[in-house]
Amino acid sequence: MEFIDLKAQYRHLKASVDARIQAVLDHGQYILGPEVRELEERLAERTGAKHCITCASGTDALLLALLALEIQPGNEVITAPFTFFATGEMIALAGAVPVFVDIDPATYNIDPAKIEAAITPRTRAIMPVSLYGQPAEMDSINAIADRHKLAVIEDAAQSFGALYKGRHSGNLSTIGCTSFFPSKPLGCYGDGGACFTNDDGLATAIIELRNHGQDRRYHHTRIGINGRMDTIQAAVLLAKLEVFDDELLARNETADRYSALLKGLIETPKIATHSTSAWAQYTIEVDGRGAVEDAMRTAGVPTAVHYPTSLHLQPVFEKLSRAHGWTEGSFPHSERASARVLSLPMHPYQTPADANLVSAALQAALRSNAEPSK
Ligand SMILES: *Cc1c(COP(=O)(O)O)cnc(C)c1O
Repeated sequence: MEFIDLKAQYRHLKASVDARIQAVLDHGQYILGPEVRELEERLAERTGAKHCITCASGTDALLLALLALEIQPGNEVITAPFTFFATGEMIALAGAVPVFVDIDPATYNIDPAKIEAAITPRTRAIMPVSLYGQPAEMDSINAIADRHKLAVIEDAAQSFGALYKGRHSGNLSTIGCTSFFPSKPLGCYGDGGACFTNDDGLATAIIELRNHGQDRRYHHTRIGINGRMDTIQAAVLLAKLEVFDDELLARNETADRYSALLKGLIETPKIATHSTSAWAQYTIEVDGRGAVEDAMRTAGVPTAVHYPTSLHLQPVFEKLSRAHGWTEGSFPHSERASARVLSLPMHPYQTPADANLVSAALQAALRSNAEPSK
């Protein structure tokens, strides 16, 4: 069993993916070729955002958003400590200070009720993460940002395809950033990402920043990066987009199947009634995670931990944490989650038989964990 079966997906999509890639090989416009523009149009249309600007990765999307907003050294950006490293990393790389706010343990997303206490005169933006595929509580976050004149950057790397009150994740804030890393809900065959915005000025800034800050060829008005999406990756995404809605349905079916099988055994993931999830991960919490992981592996079921260390406890943020007085215990919900979460195999081509195997392996693992050791 695979944790995410990308080969099963390719077998399903082979004809259209191959044809799309072959078209790029035939026209030879590998950098910013016509597929890139076509993809941006399709993604903007899908999310309802006025602008979609593709880029080389989800990480670059976050950096481009921060650069476009002219986040400066010394500025503070509020985010959750329970996320993939890139969220905090790009805030720091832009020269700003990541300021962590604990999560709501029900959804694993930043707790809006705790944001205002973290705002200072140096705060410029809030960067909520829509973790595991479920949008953060964006209306509350946007209202706080409006009151304090802050920008909001949604890290929608895991939530492309999800809805929040009927609106699309990625198009819920000043700038939304997503990732097309192969294992994300919409993945390419390499690295890729995108920014979404309804602001013309920010869109222009991102378009220029991803291409060395050029407003026209060899005329540089900003310090940017080489952050363009490869045309071949855009071609792959155009083929995958054709089945993306079917895949989202299949992911939801996989999640529903797990939740039905695991009900009563563990707490199953909670999705707010006004949201849908893109189910980047199906993540539960267990006691004695190490032993459960080992037992599952022995039973042939791959699992993963997203993420084992809260960002304020990462070695590189030691100095930052010391300056803010953050220690173990400062973000209890984030730390508890990082010690207990376990993600189960999740992809659109999973069979009901595989879900049964996962569930049986988990039950056995939890049972042997609960027995007193001999
Ligand atoms: C994957 C991910 C990123 C980074 O995306 P890449 O495309 O791998 O650079 C950023 N934030 C979160 C929450 C992610 O899951």
